[in-house]
Amino acid sequence: MNLHEYQGKEILNSFGVRIQRGRVAHSHKEAVEVAKQIAAETGTGWWVIKAQIHAGGRGKGGGVKLAKNLAEVDSISQDIIGMMLKTPQTPPQGKKVSQVLIAEDVYYPGEHEPEEYYMSVLLNRETSRNMIMYSTEGGMDIETVAEETPHLIFTEEIDPTVGLLPFQARKIAFNFGLSGVALKEMVKFVTALYKAYVESDASLFEINPVLKTSDDKIMAVDAKVSIDDNALFRRKEYAEMRDLREENPIEVEARAAGLNYVDLDGNVGCMVNGAGLAMGTMDLIKQAGGEPANFLDVGGTADAKRVETAFRIILKDSNVKAILVNIFGGIVRCDRVAQGVVDAYTNMGDAINVPIIVRLQGTNAKEAKELIDNSGMEIISATEFKEAADKVQEVLAK
Ligand code: GDP
Ligand code: MN
Repeated sequence: MNLHEYQGKEILNSFGVRIQRGRVAHSHKEAVEVAKQIAAETGTGWWVIKAQIHAGGRGKGGGVKLAKNLAEVDSISQDIIGMMLKTPQTPPQGKKVSQVLIAEDVYYPGEHEPEEYYMSVLLNRETSRNMIMYSTEGGMDIETVAEETPHLIFTEEIDPTVGLLPFQARKIAFNFGLSGVALKEMVKFVTALYKAYVESDASLFEINPVLKTSDDKIMAVDAKVSIDDNALFRRKEYAEMRDLREENPIEVEARAAGLNYVDLDGNVGCMVNGAGLAMGTMDLIKQAGGEPANFLDVGGTADAKRVETAFRIILKDSNVKAILVNIFGGIVRCDRVAQGVVDAYTNMGDAINVPIIVRLQGTNAKEAKELIDNSGMEIISATEFKEAADKVQEVLAK
Protein backbone atom coordinates (compact mmCIF):
# COMPACT_ATOMS: atom_id res chain seq x y z
CA MET A 1 0.00 0.00 0.00
CA ASN A 2 1.46 3.32 -1.08
CA LEU A 3 1.17 6.40 1.09
CA HIS A 4 1.23 10.12 0.45
CA GLU A 5 4.37 12.03 1.27
CA TYR A 6 2.76 13.71 4.29
CA GLN A 7 1.67 10.34 5.69
CA GLY A 8 5.08 8.79 5.10
CA LYS A 9 6.68 11.70 6.90
CA GLU A 10 4.31 11.27 9.86
CA ILE A 11 5.52 7.68 10.19
CA LEU A 12 9.18 8.70 9.89
CA ASN A 13 8.68 11.41 12.50
CA SER A 14 7.08 8.93 14.91
CA PHE A 15 10.31 6.91 14.81
CA GLY A 16 12.54 9.92 15.38
CA VAL A 17 13.66 10.46 11.78
CA ARG A 18 14.16 14.18 11.22
CA ILE A 19 11.78 15.52 8.59
CA GLN A 20 10.97 18.78 6.89
CA ARG A 21 8.05 19.87 9.10
CA GLY A 22 4.69 20.42 7.51
CA ARG A 23 0.97 19.71 7.45
CA VAL A 24 -1.60 18.84 4.84
CA ALA A 25 -4.29 21.27 3.61
CA HIS A 26 -7.34 20.69 1.42
CA SER A 27 -8.12 24.27 0.39
CA HIS A 28 -6.14 27.46 -0.17
CA LYS A 29 -7.76 29.01 2.92
CA GLU A 30 -6.68 26.07 5.05
CA ALA A 31 -3.24 26.30 3.44
CA VAL A 32 -2.79 29.84 4.74
CA GLU A 33 -3.86 28.82 8.25
CA VAL A 34 -1.48 25.87 8.19
CA ALA A 35 1.33 28.11 6.91
CA LYS A 36 0.85 30.42 9.90
CA GLN A 37 1.01 27.46 12.30
CA ILE A 38 4.14 26.08 10.62
CA ALA A 39 5.78 29.48 10.86
CA ALA A 40 4.93 29.70 14.56
CA GLU A 41 6.32 26.24 15.23
CA THR A 42 9.47 26.36 13.11
CA GLY A 43 10.26 30.03 12.71
CA THR A 44 10.26 29.73 8.92
CA GLY A 45 9.36 32.74 6.80
CA TRP A 46 9.14 30.81 3.53
CA TRP A 47 7.14 27.71 2.76
CA VAL A 48 7.17 25.01 0.15
CA ILE A 49 3.79 23.93 -1.26
CA LYS A 50 3.74 20.32 -2.41
CA ALA A 51 1.02 18.51 -4.36
CA GLN A 52 0.06 15.24 -2.64
CA ILE A 53 -0.44 12.53 -5.23
CA HIS A 54 0.92 9.01 -5.48
CA ALA A 55 3.61 9.79 -8.05
CA GLY A 56 7.12 11.18 -8.04
CA GLY A 57 8.62 13.85 -10.25
CA ARG A 58 6.14 16.41 -8.95
CA GLY A 59 8.77 19.14 -8.82
CA LYS A 60 9.40 19.01 -12.57
CA GLY A 61 5.65 18.89 -13.28
CA GLY A 62 4.96 22.12 -11.37
CA GLY A 63 3.60 20.43 -8.25
CA VAL A 64 6.24 21.75 -5.83
CA LYS A 65 6.60 25.52 -5.41
CA LEU A 66 8.22 27.90 -3.00
CA ALA A 67 6.08 30.61 -1.37
CA LYS A 68 7.79 33.65 0.15
CA ASN A 69 4.76 35.18 1.88
CA LEU A 70 1.22 34.25 2.88
CA ALA A 71 -0.28 35.80 -0.25
CA GLU A 72 1.88 33.43 -2.31
CA VAL A 73 0.88 30.49 -0.12
CA ASP A 74 -2.70 31.38 -0.94
CA SER A 75 -2.27 31.80 -4.70
CA ILE A 76 0.09 28.85 -5.23
CA SER A 77 -2.18 26.52 -3.22
CA GLN A 78 -5.13 27.71 -5.23
CA ASP A 79 -3.25 26.88 -8.44
CA ILE A 80 -2.10 23.44 -7.31
CA ILE A 81 -5.27 22.17 -5.59
CA GLY A 82 -7.58 20.88 -8.30
CA MET A 83 -4.92 20.78 -11.03
CA MET A 84 -4.27 17.70 -13.16
CA LEU A 85 -0.60 17.18 -12.34
CA LYS A 86 1.43 15.48 -15.05
CA THR A 87 4.75 13.87 -14.16
CA PRO A 88 6.73 11.04 -15.77
CA GLN A 89 5.07 8.72 -13.24
CA THR A 90 1.41 9.68 -13.76
CA PRO A 91 -0.94 8.48 -16.51
CA PRO A 92 -0.73 10.77 -19.61
CA GLN A 93 -3.75 12.83 -18.55
CA GLY A 94 -2.13 13.45 -15.12
CA LYS A 95 -3.51 12.96 -11.64
CA LYS A 96 -5.95 15.24 -9.88
CA VAL A 97 -4.51 17.01 -6.86
CA SER A 98 -6.92 17.32 -3.94
CA GLN A 99 -4.52 18.23 -1.16
CA VAL A 100 -1.20 19.96 -0.64
CA LEU A 101 1.50 19.69 1.98
CA ILE A 102 2.57 23.04 3.39
CA ALA A 103 6.09 22.64 4.72
CA GLU A 104 8.82 24.85 6.17
CA ASP A 105 11.46 25.97 3.67
CA VAL A 106 14.57 24.02 4.61
CA TYR A 107 16.86 25.28 1.83
CA TYR A 108 17.65 28.46 3.77
CA PRO A 109 21.10 30.03 3.26
CA GLY A 110 23.83 29.58 5.85
CA GLU A 111 27.40 28.56 6.46
CA HIS A 112 27.37 25.70 3.91
CA GLU A 113 25.41 25.10 0.73
CA PRO A 114 22.45 22.72 1.26
CA GLU A 115 23.17 19.31 -0.31
CA GLU A 116 20.75 16.71 -1.63
CA TYR A 117 21.36 12.97 -1.28
CA TYR A 118 19.41 9.85 -2.20
CA MET A 119 18.55 7.06 0.23
CA SER A 120 16.16 4.14 0.16
CA VAL A 121 15.52 1.05 2.26
CA LEU A 122 14.14 -1.99 0.50
CA LEU A 123 14.33 -5.75 0.24
CA ASN A 124 17.01 -7.31 -1.94
CA ARG A 125 15.10 -10.31 -3.25
CA GLU A 126 18.23 -12.04 -4.50
CA THR A 127 19.84 -12.19 -1.07
CA SER A 128 16.59 -12.13 0.97
CA ARG A 129 18.01 -9.23 2.97
CA ASN A 130 17.03 -5.64 3.53
CA MET A 131 19.40 -3.12 2.12
CA ILE A 132 20.03 0.57 2.27
CA MET A 133 20.72 2.08 -1.12
CA TYR A 134 22.26 5.53 -1.22
CA SER A 135 23.94 8.05 -3.45
CA THR A 136 25.38 11.54 -3.30
CA GLU A 137 23.40 12.21 -6.50
CA GLY A 138 20.11 13.05 -4.80
CA GLY A 139 17.27 15.30 -5.86
CA MET A 140 17.26 14.12 -9.46
CA ASP A 141 15.71 10.98 -10.77
CA ILE A 142 17.67 8.00 -9.53
CA GLU A 143 16.92 5.85 -12.59
CA THR A 144 19.08 8.22 -14.66
CA VAL A 145 21.88 8.02 -12.09
CA ALA A 146 21.62 4.21 -12.16
CA GLU A 147 21.88 4.22 -15.95
CA GLU A 148 24.57 6.81 -16.51
CA THR A 149 26.72 6.70 -13.38
CA PRO A 150 25.98 3.41 -11.60
CA HIS A 151 29.25 3.62 -9.64
CA LEU A 152 27.74 6.51 -7.69
CA ILE A 153 25.09 4.26 -6.15
CA PHE A 154 26.10 2.32 -3.03
CA THR A 155 24.31 -0.43 -1.15
CA GLU A 156 24.61 -1.69 2.40
CA GLU A 157 23.05 -5.07 3.17
CA ILE A 158 21.69 -5.78 6.61
CA ASP A 159 21.99 -9.15 8.33
CA PRO A 160 18.50 -9.87 9.70
CA THR A 161 19.84 -11.67 12.77
CA VAL A 162 21.69 -8.62 14.11
CA GLY A 163 20.05 -5.72 12.30
CA LEU A 164 21.84 -2.55 11.18
CA LEU A 165 25.20 -2.36 12.97
CA PRO A 166 26.68 0.97 14.10
CA PHE A 167 29.72 0.62 11.82
CA GLN A 168 27.40 0.31 8.82
CA ALA A 169 25.66 3.58 9.64
CA ARG A 170 29.07 5.25 10.03
CA LYS A 171 30.29 3.78 6.76
CA ILE A 172 27.31 5.28 4.96
CA ALA A 173 27.99 8.68 6.53
CA PHE A 174 31.68 8.48 5.53
CA ASN A 175 30.77 7.53 1.97
CA PHE A 176 28.73 10.72 1.75
CA GLY A 177 31.99 12.51 2.61
CA LEU A 178 30.59 13.88 5.86
CA SER A 179 32.44 14.88 9.02
CA GLY A 180 31.72 16.58 12.32
CA VAL A 181 28.12 17.43 13.16
CA ALA A 182 26.79 16.32 9.77
CA LEU A 183 28.39 12.90 10.18
CA LYS A 184 26.79 12.39 13.59
CA GLU A 185 23.46 13.59 12.22
CA MET A 186 23.68 11.17 9.30
CA VAL A 187 24.45 8.22 11.59
CA LYS A 188 21.38 9.11 13.66
CA PHE A 189 19.28 9.55 10.54
CA VAL A 190 20.25 6.20 8.99
CA THR A 191 19.79 4.34 12.27
CA ALA A 192 16.32 5.80 12.88
CA LEU A 193 15.33 5.31 9.26
CA TYR A 194 16.19 1.63 9.28
CA LYS A 195 14.40 1.06 12.58
CA ALA A 196 11.34 2.83 11.17
CA TYR A 197 11.42 0.64 8.07
CA VAL A 198 11.51 -2.61 10.03
CA GLU A 199 9.06 -1.65 12.75
CA SER A 200 6.46 -0.16 10.42
CA ASP A 201 6.41 -3.32 8.25
CA ALA A 202 7.33 -1.23 5.23
CA SER A 203 8.26 -2.69 1.86
CA LEU A 204 9.85 0.52 0.59
CA PHE A 205 11.20 3.77 1.96
CA GLU A 206 12.58 6.11 -0.65
CA ILE A 207 13.87 9.44 0.57
CA ASN A 208 14.88 11.64 -2.33
CA PRO A 209 16.20 14.06 -1.39
CA VAL A 210 17.73 13.54 2.00
CA LEU A 211 18.90 17.07 2.74
CA LYS A 212 21.99 18.34 4.51
CA THR A 213 20.90 21.81 5.50
CA SER A 214 23.20 24.81 5.52
CA ASP A 215 23.61 24.28 9.28
CA ASP A 216 24.43 20.58 8.92
CA LYS A 217 21.13 18.99 9.89
CA ILE A 218 20.18 15.81 8.02
CA MET A 219 16.49 15.46 7.20
CA ALA A 220 13.95 13.84 4.89
CA VAL A 221 12.54 16.37 2.41
CA ASP A 222 10.58 13.81 0.40
CA ALA A 223 9.20 10.42 1.46
CA LYS A 224 7.88 7.61 -0.68
CA VAL A 225 6.62 4.97 1.72
CA SER A 226 4.94 1.65 0.94
CA ILE A 227 3.62 -0.57 3.69
CA ASP A 228 3.49 -4.33 3.11
CA ASP A 229 -0.18 -5.19 2.43
CA ASN A 230 0.22 -8.48 4.25
CA ALA A 231 1.11 -6.65 7.46
CA LEU A 232 -1.83 -4.23 7.45
CA PHE A 233 -3.89 -6.49 9.68
CA ARG A 234 -1.53 -5.63 12.53
CA ARG A 235 -0.91 -2.02 11.47
CA LYS A 236 -4.45 -0.69 11.66
CA GLU A 237 -3.27 2.90 12.08
CA TYR A 238 -1.50 2.67 8.71
CA ALA A 239 -4.31 0.75 7.03
CA GLU A 240 -6.50 3.78 7.76
CA MET A 241 -4.13 5.94 5.72
CA ARG A 242 -5.14 4.23 2.50
CA ASP A 243 -6.35 6.78 -0.08
CA LEU A 244 -8.72 4.96 -2.40
CA ARG A 245 -8.79 7.93 -4.79
CA GLU A 246 -5.22 7.06 -5.72
CA GLU A 247 -5.89 3.41 -6.45
CA ASN A 248 -7.21 1.47 -9.42
CA PRO A 249 -11.01 1.39 -8.88
CA ILE A 250 -11.33 -2.19 -10.16
CA GLU A 251 -8.67 -3.38 -7.72
CA VAL A 252 -10.41 -1.53 -4.90
CA GLU A 253 -13.68 -3.30 -5.69
CA ALA A 254 -12.00 -6.69 -6.01
CA ARG A 255 -10.31 -6.27 -2.64
CA ALA A 256 -13.66 -5.45 -1.04
CA ALA A 257 -15.03 -8.68 -2.54
CA GLY A 258 -12.10 -10.65 -1.12
CA LEU A 259 -10.57 -11.42 -4.51
CA ASN A 260 -6.88 -11.20 -5.28
CA TYR A 261 -6.91 -9.07 -8.42
CA VAL A 262 -4.16 -7.16 -10.19
CA ASP A 263 -4.99 -5.14 -13.29
CA LEU A 264 -2.68 -5.68 -16.30
CA ASP A 265 -2.46 -4.31 -19.84
CA GLY A 266 -3.52 -7.29 -22.01
CA ASN A 267 -6.88 -8.45 -23.38
CA VAL A 268 -7.31 -11.96 -21.97
CA GLY A 269 -9.20 -11.96 -18.68
CA CYS A 270 -8.16 -14.76 -16.29
CA MET A 271 -10.13 -16.45 -13.55
CA VAL A 272 -8.04 -18.96 -11.67
CA ASN A 273 -7.94 -20.57 -8.25
CA GLY A 274 -4.61 -20.41 -6.46
CA ALA A 275 -1.84 -17.89 -6.99
CA GLY A 276 0.57 -20.43 -8.50
CA LEU A 277 -1.92 -21.63 -11.07
CA ALA A 278 -2.81 -18.03 -11.83
CA MET A 279 0.85 -17.28 -12.60
CA GLY A 280 1.11 -20.45 -14.71
CA THR A 281 -2.02 -19.46 -16.61
CA MET A 282 -0.64 -16.03 -17.37
CA ASP A 283 2.59 -17.61 -18.62
CA LEU A 284 0.70 -19.97 -20.90
CA ILE A 285 -1.46 -17.20 -22.32
CA LYS A 286 1.72 -15.33 -23.20
CA GLN A 287 3.31 -18.42 -24.70
CA ALA A 288 0.27 -18.89 -26.93
CA GLY A 289 0.79 -15.32 -28.17
CA GLY A 290 -1.74 -13.52 -25.97
CA GLU A 291 -1.49 -10.94 -23.20
CA PRO A 292 -3.21 -11.38 -19.82
CA ALA A 293 -5.53 -8.54 -18.80
CA ASN A 294 -5.31 -9.37 -15.14
CA PHE A 295 -4.11 -11.64 -12.40
CA LEU A 296 -7.09 -13.05 -10.52
CA ASP A 297 -7.05 -15.66 -7.80
CA VAL A 298 -10.65 -16.46 -6.82
CA GLY A 299 -9.45 -18.58 -3.92
CA GLY A 300 -10.64 -21.92 -2.68
CA THR A 301 -14.42 -21.46 -2.78
CA ALA A 302 -15.25 -20.91 -6.42
CA ASP A 303 -19.04 -21.04 -6.01
CA ALA A 304 -21.59 -19.40 -8.32
CA LYS A 305 -21.70 -16.13 -6.35
CA ARG A 306 -17.95 -15.76 -6.33
CA VAL A 307 -17.59 -16.73 -9.97
CA GLU A 308 -20.21 -14.12 -10.88
CA THR A 309 -18.44 -11.42 -8.87
CA ALA A 310 -15.18 -12.37 -10.57
CA PHE A 311 -16.77 -12.18 -14.04
CA ARG A 312 -18.21 -8.76 -13.27
CA ILE A 313 -14.85 -7.47 -12.06
CA ILE A 314 -12.94 -8.87 -15.05
CA LEU A 315 -15.47 -7.33 -17.46
CA LYS A 316 -15.06 -3.84 -15.96
CA ASP A 317 -11.80 -3.73 -17.89
CA SER A 318 -12.92 -2.74 -21.38
CA ASN A 319 -9.74 -4.20 -22.91
CA VAL A 320 -10.92 -7.75 -22.13
CA LYS A 321 -11.79 -9.60 -25.33
CA ALA A 322 -11.95 -13.18 -23.97
CA ILE A 323 -11.96 -14.83 -20.56
CA LEU A 324 -10.05 -17.95 -19.63
CA VAL A 325 -11.36 -19.80 -16.58
CA ASN A 326 -8.75 -22.23 -15.32
CA ILE A 327 -9.72 -24.05 -12.14
CA PHE A 328 -8.13 -27.00 -10.45
CA GLY A 329 -10.71 -28.96 -8.48
CA GLY A 330 -9.03 -30.37 -5.43
CA ILE A 331 -11.21 -29.82 -2.42
CA VAL A 332 -13.74 -27.89 -4.47
CA ARG A 333 -15.28 -30.30 -7.01
CA CYS A 334 -15.10 -29.32 -10.69
CA ASP A 335 -18.78 -29.98 -11.34
CA ARG A 336 -19.70 -27.49 -8.62
CA VAL A 337 -17.46 -24.87 -10.20
CA ALA A 338 -18.90 -25.68 -13.64
CA GLN A 339 -22.38 -25.20 -12.22
CA GLY A 340 -21.17 -21.91 -10.77
CA VAL A 341 -19.96 -20.78 -14.20
CA VAL A 342 -23.24 -21.79 -15.85
CA ASP A 343 -25.31 -20.08 -13.12
CA ALA A 344 -23.24 -16.93 -13.28
CA TYR A 345 -23.57 -16.90 -17.06
CA THR A 346 -27.36 -17.31 -16.81
CA ASN A 347 -27.63 -14.57 -14.18
CA MET A 348 -25.50 -12.11 -16.05
CA GLY A 349 -27.14 -12.50 -19.45
CA ASP A 350 -25.96 -9.82 -21.86
CA ALA A 351 -23.42 -8.54 -19.39
CA ILE A 352 -21.12 -11.28 -20.66
CA ASN A 353 -20.18 -10.01 -24.10
CA VAL A 354 -16.93 -11.89 -24.73
CA PRO A 355 -16.19 -15.57 -25.36
CA ILE A 356 -15.45 -17.71 -22.32
CA ILE A 357 -13.06 -20.64 -22.38
CA VAL A 358 -13.24 -22.95 -19.40
CA ARG A 359 -10.75 -25.55 -18.33
CA LEU A 360 -11.55 -27.60 -15.26
CA GLN A 361 -9.19 -30.28 -14.02
CA GLY A 362 -9.25 -32.48 -10.95
CA THR A 363 -12.09 -34.07 -9.03
CA ASN A 364 -15.15 -34.69 -11.26
CA ALA A 365 -13.56 -32.97 -14.24
CA LYS A 366 -15.42 -35.23 -16.69
CA GLU A 367 -18.83 -34.40 -15.20
CA ALA A 368 -17.88 -30.74 -15.24
CA LYS A 369 -17.02 -30.79 -18.94
CA GLU A 370 -20.31 -32.52 -19.75
CA LEU A 371 -22.21 -29.95 -17.73
CA ILE A 372 -20.61 -27.12 -19.69
CA ASP A 373 -20.91 -28.82 -23.08
CA ASN A 374 -24.60 -29.61 -22.45
CA SER A 375 -25.51 -26.19 -21.04
CA GLY A 376 -26.31 -24.85 -24.50
CA MET A 377 -24.31 -21.77 -23.65
CA GLU A 378 -21.50 -20.26 -25.60
CA ILE A 379 -18.86 -21.54 -23.25
CA ILE A 380 -15.91 -23.30 -24.83
CA SER A 381 -14.52 -26.14 -22.76
CA ALA A 382 -10.99 -27.47 -22.76
CA THR A 383 -9.24 -30.29 -20.95
CA GLU A 384 -5.56 -29.56 -21.38
CA PHE A 385 -3.84 -26.44 -20.22
CA LYS A 386 -2.24 -25.60 -23.58
CA GLU A 387 -5.42 -26.49 -25.45
CA ALA A 388 -7.22 -23.86 -23.37
CA ALA A 389 -4.65 -21.16 -24.14
CA ASP A 390 -4.73 -22.04 -27.86
CA LYS A 391 -8.53 -21.84 -27.90
CA VAL A 392 -8.28 -18.35 -26.44
CA GLN A 393 -6.04 -17.34 -29.34
CA GLU A 394 -8.45 -18.94 -31.82
CA VAL A 395 -11.44 -16.92 -30.58
CA LEU A 396 -9.39 -13.75 -30.51
CA ALA A 397 -8.28 -14.31 -34.10
CA LYS A 398 -11.90 -14.47 -35.29
P1 GDP B 1 9.30 15.13 -6.28
O1 GDP B 1 9.67 16.07 -7.40
O2 GDP B 1 7.95 14.55 -6.47
O3 GDP B 1 10.35 14.09 -6.06
O4 GDP B 1 9.20 16.05 -4.95
P2 GDP B 1 10.30 16.46 -3.85
O5 GDP B 1 9.68 16.43 -2.53
O6 GDP B 1 11.54 15.63 -4.01
O7 GDP B 1 10.61 17.96 -4.20
C1 GDP B 1 11.18 18.35 -5.43
C2 GDP B 1 12.21 19.41 -5.25
O8 GDP B 1 11.66 20.56 -4.64
C3 GDP B 1 13.38 19.05 -4.34
O9 GDP B 1 14.36 18.27 -4.98
C4 GDP B 1 13.90 20.40 -3.97
O10 GDP B 1 14.81 20.85 -4.95
C5 GDP B 1 12.66 21.27 -3.96
N1 GDP B 1 12.29 21.55 -2.57
C6 GDP B 1 11.69 20.71 -1.69
N2 GDP B 1 11.57 21.29 -0.50
C7 GDP B 1 12.09 22.53 -0.61
C8 GDP B 1 12.26 23.63 0.31
O11 GDP B 1 11.94 23.59 1.49
N3 GDP B 1 12.84 24.75 -0.20
C9 GDP B 1 13.23 24.84 -1.49
N4 GDP B 1 13.78 26.00 -1.89
N5 GDP B 1 13.11 23.84 -2.37
C10 GDP B 1 12.54 22.69 -1.93
MN1 MN C 1 11.59 13.49 -4.55
